[in-house]
Amino acid sequence: MAITKRKFDVVIVGSGGAGMRAALQLSEAGLKVAVLSKVFPTRSHTVSAQGGIAAALGNVTEDNWHWHMYDTVKGSDYLGDQDAIEFMCRQANEVVYELEHFGMPFDRLDNGKIYQRPFGGQSQNFGGAQATRSCASADRTGHAMLHTLYQRNVSANTQFFIEWMGLDLIRDQQGDVLGVTALEMETGEIMILQAKATLFATGGGGRIFQASTNAFINTGDGLGMAARADIPLQDMEFWQFHPTGVHSVGVLISEAVRGEGGYLLNTNGERFMERYAPNAKDLASRDVVSRAMTIEIKEGRGCGKNADHLLLKLDHLGSDVILSKLPGIRELARKFARIDPINEPIPVVPTAHYMMGGIPTNRHSQVVMPYKTSPEEVVTGFYAVGECACVSVHGANRLGTNSLLDIVVFGRSAGIQIIKDLKKNPHHKPLPQDAADKTLARISRLDNQKNGESIASVGHELHKTMDNYCGVFRFADTLAQGVTKINQVAEQVSNTEIKDKSKVFNTARIEALELENLIELAMATMISAEARNESRGAHARDDFPERDDNNWLKHTLFFSKDKRLDYKPVRLKPLTVASFPPKPRTY
Ligand SMILES: Cc1cc2nc3c(=O)[nH]c(=O)nc-3n(C[C@H](O)[C@H](O)[C@H](O)COP(=O)(O)OP(=O)(O)OC[C@H]3O[C@@H](n4cnc5c(N)ncnc54)[C@H](O)[C@@H]3O)c2cc1C
Repeated sequence: MAITKRKFDVVIVGSGGAGMRAALQLSEAGLKVAVLSKVFPTRSHTVSAQGGIAAALGNVTEDNWHWHMYDTVKGSDYLGDQDAIEFMCRQANEVVYELEHFGMPFDRLDNGKIYQRPFGGQSQNFGGAQATRSCASADRTGHAMLHTLYQRNVSANTQFFIEWMGLDLIRDQQGDVLGVTALEMETGEIMILQAKATLFATGGGGRIFQASTNAFINTGDGLGMAARADIPLQDMEFWQFHPTGVHSVGVLISEAVRGEGGYLLNTNGERFMERYAPNAKDLASRDVVSRAMTIEIKEGRGCGKNADHLLLKLDHLGSDVILSKLPGIRELARKFARIDPINEPIPVVPTAHYMMGGIPTNRHSQVVMPYKTSPEEVVTGFYAVGECACVSVHGANRLGTNSLLDIVVFGRSAGIQIIKDLKKNPHHKPLPQDAADKTLARISRLDNQKNGESIASVGHELHKTMDNYCGVFRFADTLAQGVTKINQVAEQVSNTEIKDKSKVFNTARIEALELENLIELAMATMISAEARNESRGAHARDDFPERDDNNWLKHTLFFSKDKRLDYKPVRLKPLTVASFPPKPRTY
């Protein structure tokens, strides 16, 4: 079959904040840049980020990038790489001012400076009083950011491929990356997009869980593509459960609600976080609050007739604050919980939210191979950034509003690095003969499968397995059963069939292809979680309740081909300042 080929300097898969910040750097440097997205660029999940972007501007309380670095290292439960964390926190003010100058409409304080609100895990003076560090545009910060970046990219002539789905990575004999195969979603046409540099910015994969705050498009495609191309996935056992998803719907109620003074109650009307985190209370780190909520429910202090959720109270903030600072939250509560938070509390439960793991990268957003060399060897031509990458600035637990920061800091660093690398390697490498074979085989298997399994029911099995066997608390026996179960689901995934081709051909095809990515993430998560015999950050083992720095201060790497695990050390040495050695973590 003849396949259309197109050539670009750079192909970016993903048009969220990460992909668009990188694209802007590259297009403005005069490179020919293609950006692929499954949805219209401004519908990427970045658009739903509510609370803010962290930067130690010090507009409300005194602040300092070094304090921000300390909080991030502590929040990561010491699994974060301290060189990357220093790099990110040091650049935060600069990238936020840059966004301001791009035209991003931040809220303002009375003195005209950027509005900031407090978020969980933010402190002054290395663990002292609460800091106020999250720069916000009401509760629609991601919306403001993404639209600003899109407009800038349009004027910089970035070429968008809208409703195009990247399918597989193209690598040559040496393992260098030469581009991707992609599907035009409307027509079903397969194409090769050849590039001197390929950047993945495909976002998270929260859709491996049934109850998730993530958009339906968040199926971890970049990780699936990387895993199929023999790139390991790092730290996949660490998933953040956000404390406040709307009960039984999953839609997110931002931590900004607690930042503005809201708090959680159990069925006795008790503000229970005071017992679990006496200092930070409701603004303790997310893993801490989610575990506390799960315990409250398990011990019978949940609310409602099934005692299966808790209440987020904010009516005491007054309608002025709610209408000006949290208007989107009010809208979500009215639509999805059918209550008005001006008068009533919102029913909430911990809900899968953010993927700390991803494709292993260094702080220049180059994908690295785990050869345990220092510096690590890079995969030539391949870069990853944003939620799909693991750099690792979030370690075992991400602090709220650090992800919007991550995507702009590393989006920019990816752009800068690619410009440098293309000066050294200005030519396209020849495409191998078999560049599209893997993709064509997958499509042909799907199109010709007879008597296979239904895509929807296998997807449902996958979600159920992750929810039931790999949630907020993890147990030795359920994890072991989970591994067996997820291997069975993987068998089913390789046997799915598109039913009723005449009616739903392309959408069903896309769902099936997404499922092939989801299963890579789900397997990596379950197998990595079963192996990690300690509790750290978001990974809470019932049988190993303590953190174990002697044996587990290391990153997990999962290799899909032989389902093998390997480990590499955490980079504890920052770039210029002293290291923050692991300490017990309390809030
Ligand atoms: C509800 C919600 C609220 C949040 N609030 C905050 C907050 O206030 N502050 C904060 O710091 N973080 C927040 N986060 C986290 C943060 O928004 C995300 O981690 C971040 O925006 C991810 O950006 P990204 O550019 O990596 O990916 P995304 O914005 O998710 O973009 C991914 C892009 O990849 C494309 N894509 C995916 N697969 C393919 C494929 N196969 N082919 C082509 N294109 C593909 C998609 O179309 C999309 O364009 C929130 C997350 C959620 C879910």
